[in-house]
Amino acid sequence: MYTQELLPGLDPKEPLIIAGPCSAESEEQVMATARELASYGAKVFRAGIWKPRTKPGGFEGVGTVGLPWLQRVKEETGMYVATEVATKAHVEAALEAGIDLIWIGARTAANPFAMQEIADTLAASGKDVPVLVKNPVNPDLELWIGAIQRIQNAGIKRVGAIHRGFSAYGKHLYRNLPQWHIPIELGRRIPNIPIICDPSHIGGSRELISPLSQQAFDMGFDGLIIESHCNPDKAWSDSAQQVTPAALNLIVNSLVPLNGADPDTTQNLPLLRQEIDRLDNELIELLGKRMGVCREIGQYKKEHGMKVVQGGRYSDMMQHRQKLASDMGMGEEFIRRVYAAIHEESVRQQIDVFKKDNK
Ligand code: PEP
Ligand code: MN
Repeated sequence: MYTQELLPGLDPKEPLIIAGPCSAESEEQVMATARELASYGAKVFRAGIWKPRTKPGGFEGVGTVGLPWLQRVKEETGMYVATEVATKAHVEAALEAGIDLIWIGARTAANPFAMQEIADTLAASGKDVPVLVKNPVNPDLELWIGAIQRIQNAGIKRVGAIHRGFSAYGKHLYRNLPQWHIPIELGRRIPNIPIICDPSHIGGSRELISPLSQQAFDMGFDGLIIESHCNPDKAWSDSAQQVTPAALNLIVNSLVPLNGADPDTTQNLPLLRQEIDRLDNELIELLGKRMGVCREIGQYKKEHGMKVVQGGRYSDMMQHRQKLASDMGMGEEFIRRVYAAIHEESVRQQIDVFKKDNK
């Protein structure tokens, strides 16, 4: 299945682009954003009506009062409208309001009970609305596949997937780590399923939307879902990652197509480069953690009146590392130079701790 089969009338040559605010906030905000997006040629409008928030007290969406706003978007701009559902009541209300496409959020996709409830409600409705299933928050491919299967088993024919990245503990460049190999593997396990990328929730910041969209494009994703708000700085949710409709238009128009090259032959290189980027990020994070431990050691040595550099330890450590590296096919001289540099920085970090304590 191709993305244009998800909704009739979309240009088969174009990737599917879904755009709109994270949340519907007011009729004015929804209409202003929708009109602007439509003026740039957008065809599918998204807006969250029910928002799953991590903690209580956040903006939980306007609820069913927002559904007529989406109906108005549809009537006035001719765009298709899409929203997120998480419960039986949401599905019933969305179908009743004539929502054209529904998606299931990452927190819901991680919950088989919720997925089954949604699937049962869809089956009981007898309506064949297209459904996009986001990946679960945790990097569990089987859980994602299971969520998709529940929807397919309900008799829904137009089912797609959204890659929105995976949450991870601690601070990272991305709000949700892309782990591109997981959606790629999904495509292999469920052939012909349209997979679209959500660079807004992967990146978590405006600057990352364009490069992430290009990466997704290069890897052969079938479309993008991007958060766009008429006044992003004032958005009630996900403000940092929303872009104006004008910025979104620029991002989409500056995407470089694959120039008709056979995607099978072009997919590997970006994928491998992506893997290198991911590994380098991990390397830097690991080095950062290592330096943190060095600072703790520095603190210990300081408190116990020990010298920063302890003879013997360095050469023992080096021998062991060189052996490990050589077992993994790396040159001993290479690893000696890498460790000399790491050791130098570790000593510098420890001296820094000593100096701080002396102040
Ligand atoms: C959203 O699309 O606004 C959303 C809540 O996304 P996710 O489920 O990916 O966090
Ligand atoms: Mn959002």
